[in-house]
Amino acid sequence: MIRKHDQQSRIPTPPTLVTEFTAPASHPAFAGALEVNLFRNEKVCGMNCPHCSLGETTLRLARLKRELIPVNSQDVVSKVRAELVRRELNGGPWPRMLISGRGEPTLAPDFTDAIKQIIQARHEIAPGTEVEVLTNGERLSDRDILEALRQVDRAWLKLDVGTELGLKRFSKPLSRITLEILLGHARKIDKLGVVSTFLGGARGNIHEFDEWLENVSLLSPQQVIMTNGRLRNSGDILDAKLASTEPAELVELTEDELFSLAHRFERKLKQKPLVSFDVRSLSTSEPTTFELYTKAR
Ligand code: SF4
Repeated sequence: MIRKHDQQSRIPTPPTLVTEFTAPASHPAFAGALEVNLFRNEKVCGMNCPHCSLGETTLRLARLKRELIPVNSQDVVSKVRAELVRRELNGGPWPRMLISGRGEPTLAPDFTDAIKQIIQARHEIAPGTEVEVLTNGERLSDRDILEALRQVDRAWLKLDVGTELGLKRFSKPLSRITLEILLGHARKIDKLGVVSTFLGGARGNIHEFDEWLENVSLLSPQQVIMTNGRLRNSGDILDAKLASTEPAELVELTEDELFSLAHRFERKLKQKPLVSFDVRSLSTSEPTTFELYTKAR
């Protein structure tokens, strides 16, 4: 386990923009990765997790299909190529590339083509750079998407819940995907990682931690990242909680609580998770990380 909790990690470092569609990954769990965004500014995701740093999912699926203006995969690939060359010439290759960006990358209409071309670019320019994808798994039943995810160096499955009810209440998928189907397909990915975010409270997910453990154990992932969820307006939520006698619906975990979950994981699965304690502020008055990158330009 890696503790990302020294004084320095609390000091925000000014982000540097690479291109409009690529930037260093903002989440500490993926520090050191070149993040590749397949969308424009609006969040595009078929789930609506309470801790999402991109804010509420406001695009419904039908509108999403109608109005999504994807980034042309040729544009993305040429920018990725240019960035890989730039890094090769200035201080060595990116250790990893994370295809995630503003939402669920597999919803990009030419996702499979983009993956193919990014892998090719990596092969030609920076063979040491790992290509990774972060997905919530909502499109794993599409055979082409699954196949593309089997081709990358690591497919990270965002899995926060242990039950069908948890999926509905916590991750709030817009489609009718079930956990059983999602996990069934995820098992077909050999180079699989799991990244999970935890929140306490009546509407949180830690009360189904044992079921989550069972699911992860069946997936046999090569790596697991456990992180704490940050809530937008967490100050307001805390004030409301202190002022109320009702138990809070969603509660952020302390670092000790997160590590105690990680110890339970380690005891049960005999595998060390990477624990990443997120100290970023996600108040609604703050721009999202993507906008920060834009400002840094
Ligand atoms: S799956 Fe990821 S992008 Fe989608 S709502 Fe959840 S955290 Fe946000």
